[in-house]
Amino acid sequence: MPRSLATSPDVVVIGGGIAGLLVAHHCTANGDNVLVLEASERVGGRCLSLDAGGIRVDLGAAWHWMEHTRIPPLLDRFGLARVRQHEPGVAVFEAERSRPVERFEWPTTPPPSWRIEGGTQALADAIADALPEGTIRCGMRVDRIRQEGSDGIRVEGTGSDGPFHVQAARCACAVPPRLVAHTIDIRPLPAGVDDALRHTPTWMSHSLKVGVVYDRPFWREDGWSGRVRSLAGPIHDWHDATPPASLGSDQRCRGAGGLFGFGPPPQEGVSMDDFRRRVVEQLVHCYGPAARDPVALRVQDWSRTTWTTPPAGSACRGEEPKAVPALSRNYWDGRLSFVAAETACEHPGFLDGAVEAARRYAEQTSVPATDAV
Ligand SMILES: Cc1cc2nc3c(=O)[nH]c(=O)nc-3n(C[C@H](O)[C@H](O)[C@H](O)COP(=O)(O)OP(=O)(O)OC[C@H]3O[C@@H](n4cnc5c(N)ncnc54)[C@H](O)[C@@H]3O)c2cc1C
Repeated sequence: MPRSLATSPDVVVIGGGIAGLLVAHHCTANGDNVLVLEASERVGGRCLSLDAGGIRVDLGAAWHWMEHTRIPPLLDRFGLARVRQHEPGVAVFEAERSRPVERFEWPTTPPPSWRIEGGTQALADAIADALPEGTIRCGMRVDRIRQEGSDGIRVEGTGSDGPFHVQAARCACAVPPRLVAHTIDIRPLPAGVDDALRHTPTWMSHSLKVGVVYDRPFWREDGWSGRVRSLAGPIHDWHDATPPASLGSDQRCRGAGGLFGFGPPPQEGVSMDDFRRRVVEQLVHCYGPAARDPVALRVQDWSRTTWTTPPAGSACRGEEPKAVPALSRNYWDGRLSFVAAETACEHPGFLDGAVEAARRYAEQTSVPATDAV
């Protein structure tokens, strides 16, 4: 028998990524009793950072751009700073492993982008810390959502102690739509909604990201920007991830330095050890022997991350999400809503979209959106 969780919240939020956490934040500020059920053992979802050598390197979301206007006030609200993405210096072009790399300068400066100091994980942690104690339950996977009569919802799932269920007045499902379609049984689902969920790509779920930390950002000492474009791989695009605190006011290296990069998941039969070895070989080819001994190297393959990507055979191919009107509406007389970043009308799939979706939920359910969030 599934055990009943000893609470009947006004709102049950499924998923503790940025969207779910912000929904919880708006609702608790409105006086609602909220329960967040998060399948994994941490909050943040696609915001995930590598901690090593005293710095944090983003393995999931990292940047926001000028048009992502909801992010700066959100950072102010939670006391977080942002840092401009480092671009100055000479970039590297790697055509083939057997030929020396080429130096190149960008013909135009790329549009400015910013990272969050402490990584995007710091934002998720800050929102989570501001919620009343006991609001978030990690390790609780939701399997089913049912409409119960005309005034309630029943959510069923599996936790470390076995199956559970919980009754709530409203449910905000903050899980990426495509993952919902493949892993959560929702009934009765209005016509067309299953299709909309199933065909909405999960932004960046096709990709792999690597974070590498060195005891100092040695590439900057030689005038390199940290930017690499490569046709040889395994990583096609590298960027500097060093925090300003690692550089003195004279821009000399004082602390650890980081790089992160994107590439396709390793081919079938390539072991993770082998893949990591190839990553280091690539950096040695680009920057010389100083790249041989990273302090830490971590690979996050989002195409195989259980709580982001449905089981094999249904992976996305990098399609950028578009607004999907069927996912920004409420169902069951306003009791069921989908609120992940992909449901946003503006910048769906991005962090800014997650903020928009949570704010939309607050507005549609008559919760005044909390100040500057
Ligand atoms: C490699 C990569 C790079 C990216 N780069 C950027 C970037 O630079 N800028 C940008 O704006 N965006 C970027 N993104 C996208 C950004 O990460 C997302 O927009 C944002 O994190 C989405 O937040 P969310 O809360 O909607 O969903 P998610 O972060 O996916 O959170 C969903 C949560 O639901 C949980 N969950 C899943 N299934 C269940 C279940 N059955 N029961 C309970 N919980 C469940 C998951 O564990 C997760 O915590 C990137 C994403 C990736 C993967």
